Amino acid sequence: MSETENDSKNENEEESQEKKRKKFTFKCTRCDACCLERGPIPITLWDLEMWARNEVLANFLPYLEIYAQPSGSMDLILKPLSSKDKEQDQINQDPTKALQKTPLEELLNEKCPLYNKEQKKCLVYENRPLSCRTYPLEFDGKNFKIVDLDCPGIGEEGMTKEELKEMRETAKRMNYELTRIRIALPVLHQIISRNVMMDLMRQNIEAMSQMSEEDRKKLDEIFKKAQKEQPT
Ligand code: SF4
Ligand code: SF4
Repeated sequence: MSETENDSKNENEEESQEKKRKKFTFKCTRCDACCLERGPIPITLWDLEMWARNEVLANFLPYLEIYAQPSGSMDLILKPLSSKDKEQDQINQDPTKALQKTPLEELLNEKCPLYNKEQKKCLVYENRPLSCRTYPLEFDGKNFKIVDLDCPGIGEEGMTKEELKEMRETAKRMNYELTRIRIALPVLHQIISRNVMMDLMRQNIEAMSQMSEEDRKKLDEIFKKAQKEQPT
């Protein structure tokens, strides 16, 4: 595509975004297209609190991951499975697959791990994250923004004033909650990492104290050998 064509495509997209923003009307058609290619979903403290209150936190734990952005900030995300795992359909048999370290960039258009394709439904609808409740509307602190112009629900008639108000309030809450968790997460991460390290050290010391003299000597020899082999 030439540069001029590219510019005109961007202008059209901006115009389309502007038009839809000015006259925003929405009714979810439950086509589930968003669940099928949602990619990583940001999770907030609001979600964690709701899940804890409703005693369903354990259902989400296998899919939660802390993602450190290149800028240094951190997000808690609901991580999709990679296509490889999806093809093998291992999600229900082995949820720990969700912990595999596939780079996030490869997961941007992947199916939400909590969407069941065969039954065509969200497995956690009553407890779905805040981000799903406000989709496809977002608030960036100043403006509302439509994040998915292809969502067929946009432009659907029948949205009441109260529904619009509620959707805007949910988008604002999402923005507030994202800020809240981005402040809390690095602090919590440091505290938890430190505690995990301390526990590991404690366990090591305990294990060492229970070792026989002979085993301790063997371990010393292994350490000395490893040190000698280290490049200088
Ligand atoms: S939010 Fe949009 S894409 Fe998602 S299910 Fe509703 S209509 Fe479909
Ligand atoms: S949690 Fe439910 S509503 Fe949200 S993306 Fe996953 S399947 Fe869709």
